[in-house]
Parts: sequence; structure tokens; C-alpha cells
Amino acid sequence: MAGHLPADIRPWNVRRDNGLTNAIMRETLASGTRRFSEGKRQVFQGYESQEAARQAGVQAKRRAVAHLDELLERAQATIQAQGGTTHVAATAGEARAIVREIAQNAGVRLVVKSKSMLTEELELNKELAASGMRVIETDLGEYIIQLARETPSHILAPAAHKNRAQIRALFEVDAQQAHLPPPADDDARSLTQFARARLRQEFLAADMGITGGNFCVVETGTVALITNEGNADWVTSVPRLLVCVVGIEKLVETWEDLTHLIQQPAMNGIGQRLSSYTTLISGPRSQFGEGPEEFHVVFVDNGRRSLVGTPYEDVLSCIRCGACLNVCPVFRQVGGHAYGSVYSGPIGVVETPLLTDFEVGAELPSVACTVCHACGEACPMDIDLPGHILRLRQEKVRRHLTARSANWSYGMWSGAWATPAGYRRSLRLARLAQKIYLRRGWLRNAPGLAHGWFITRDMPKVADITFHEWWAQNRGTGAHD
Ligand code: SF4
Repeated sequence: MAGHLPADIRPWNVRRDNGLTNAIMRETLASGTRRFSEGKRQVFQGYESQEAARQAGVQAKRRAVAHLDELLERAQATIQAQGGTTHVAATAGEARAIVREIAQNAGVRLVVKSKSMLTEELELNKELAASGMRVIETDLGEYIIQLARETPSHILAPAAHKNRAQIRALFEVDAQQAHLPPPADDDARSLTQFARARLRQEFLAADMGITGGNFCVVETGTVALITNEGNADWVTSVPRLLVCVVGIEKLVETWEDLTHLIQQPAMNGIGQRLSSYTTLISGPRSQFGEGPEEFHVVFVDNGRRSLVGTPYEDVLSCIRCGACLNVCPVFRQVGGHAYGSVYSGPIGVVETPLLTDFEVGAELPSVACTVCHACGEACPMDIDLPGHILRLRQEKVRRHLTARSANWSYGMWSGAWATPAGYRRSLRLARLAQKIYLRRGWLRNAPGLAHGWFITRDMPKVADITFHEWWAQNRGTGAHD
């Protein structure tokens, strides 16, 4: 069963141009993704043992996905055995309803959240707000975009498209509303000090904490969260009620599996050996008097199970590290919002049409990919992103979702090049036709559909003589020796 993802239904051209004309976004994103990629390169230098851990991590994820139903049952049993309550939601709507009911039954008024792309996917905040609850994002990046009323532009760094001046302006408005002194400056220290003071009030007043889950270890029913801020520890330990919303693909069977995986998001995403905080939650408040009184885990399918047993199954191994975004030339130019989906970059290109009605994101594999294969090389989970993008393009053609003009031109092209004679004839024609657009040996423009290609690029001219022609002319003359 297909799931549901929130979608920006404006045309790609509009979303793309919004990104391309946003100078601040392009600058901050370019420097951020460059820094992350460089950090990744450095952290792997001289750390050879990591390759074995990475491969073991890949195997652990593949095994878990292959036994998803069995692991899901076992995870529920171990969580319940420790006093937790489990729920399984087949759809986004079911997941929202489950969390809302838990909150309403407990009389919750204020919810604090740590970063979770899954809850973005579910639009959970809207649901809770519509039921009269106040929901506060406490991850710094998420808090910034919540104030800006935006969605994340990068799966790991949600506010990567904003600069410090923009963040300060948002905090100044927030400070006024919260009757707090505004940030003293727009340096990182002043901004984070403001956020710390501001969010501390909310942590202490909250009735309920909501988190995602980077991994869930089946053998002990432990939800693992990795963060670079201490906010997840506040969210999981201060409110009396805790709900972890976890995608079913986040299950791993054993602690040994977890040890292979735990470093991968930070190492590959931002070039850190390990995230600053690793939070492990196994059940509600213990005999030592720490933790929430009530602990719920909501496992969410929302289209994931439909990928099991298909050529796209490896997509479920994604650890949301963002490495594919950081190296993608399209993402670096247009930013995450252009994708019109909570998931952007190469993984968003693949997941969006797969996890929702295919038509919604069907354009992305064609328009948001240059087929450079950088994402395939960057992915620590060996997900065949470039292969999937090509498969999705084929699927789009099969479903007759491509534009007529594209069908017509590719049809002509494939017809012309299907035979050697047709190929030679088309080259002779191209040599003639290109003459009007040649400038100093380069092709600088073309009419009709091909015009767009030349807006930012030139092309070498079609050679005066092909290799075959040259060979036919020079065979036996010794010119090729
Ligand atoms: S597809 Fe690979 S590189 Fe991209 S976010 Fe997922 S695990 Fe990371």
C-alpha cells in the first residue's frame, strides 16, 4: 500500500527558480555542504577499520529489512516487557491519530519535540496544534524553521539554507513574544545562548516529549537517538509522557548490529566520528526514578512495507545521514525546498514517488538528477540511488507520464540511431544544421526543445569527420600507425 507524503504541488520550474534566485540560500547551502563533505573526507582518513564496520552495518540493515515482520513483532514484545506501550500505524493518518489520542488521554497541553523527519512526513505538529496543543521543536535547526514557518531543507541540517542574520531576526521576534532579552549578536554563541534560555522554559513546562528514532534494537526494545545537541535528553527525560515515532525500517536485531551503525550518520553526514549525544531509551521510568512515567513507541509503515521484495528494497536501509544531498550538484544549486517533498536530494528523488502516489513525485527522477552518480558513491548504505533513479524514469515512461514533446524527440532519436545508416545520416544532418549556431568551434545555441540545454552550457561541435569515416579513408595508408 502506498503511503502519503506532504507535497508542494507547485510546478518544478517554479520551485526550482525559487531556489536558484535565493542568493542567501545558495551561499549558505554551498558552504554547509562543502564543509560536511570535506569533514567526511577528513574523518575517514586513517580510519581504515571503519570500512569493515560500514559493510557490517549494511548487512545488518539488509537482514533487518528482509525480516521486517518478524522483527517488528519481537520489538513490540521486548518493549512491552519493559513496561512500554507499542502501536503500529499502517498509514500517516493512523499514526497521527494514535499520537493525538495518547496526548488527549493524558490531558497534554504542551509538547516538546526532538528532530524527526518521520514526524515531518506525518505532519504531526499540525495535527496536535489542531487539537489545541502547543508543539515546540527543540532541535536548533528545527526550532529556527518552525519560527520561519518552513519545512526542513536538508534532512540532517533543517535550517542549512538560513544565514545568521536571518536567524537573529527570527529570534528577535520570538524574544519579544516570550518576554526575553533578544540575542546580543548574530554570532553562533549569542544565537545558541538565546535558544538555550528560550527552550529551557518549554522543557520544564512540557507534559509530553516526542522523538523519532535513529535505530530500534529488537533484542532489548531500545530506541537509539543520536543528536548533536542535548535537546533529545531533555525531551526524553523531563516530560511525564514520552512518545517515540519510529519508521518500521529503523529496526536492527542486535546491539552488535547497532555498534556497526551508530557512527555512520555522523561520520558520513557531517564528518564527525560520533554524534555528541547518543540517547538510549529502554522503557519508562525505572526504579531509580528517572525518565517518563509513560513510554510509547509508535511504529509507522506509511508505504515502507510496499518496497520489501521489490528492486527498491535497499532504500529501506537509509540512515538519513544526508551524504547524498551533500554531494548532489542539483541539491547544492536549488536547495531542499525545490523538491516539494520532506525528503530532498537523491534519496528524496527516489523515495518521494515510491512512498506516495507515484504521480506526485514522478517528475523528480527526470528533472532533479544529472545522472552524475555522486550519490551512489557517497551512500554509506550502498543504496543503488543512480540505478533507482533510472528505474523510476523507466517507470514514468511505462505509465505514460512523460511529456508528449519528450516522447516524440526521444522516439525520433532512438529511431535514427537504431541502425548504422541512420546514425550516419543524422550526423551528416547535424553537421549541416549546427552551422548557424557555431561560434569559434563551439555550439552555443539550438532551436526548440534543445534551447534550454544551452542557457548555461556550450557543447563541442559535431566533428567534421567521424572516426569511422576517418578509418575508411585511411585504412591501409599507414596514417593510423
Ligand atoms: S540514501 Fe544513503 S547517503 Fe542518502 S541519506 Fe540515505 S544513507 Fe545517507
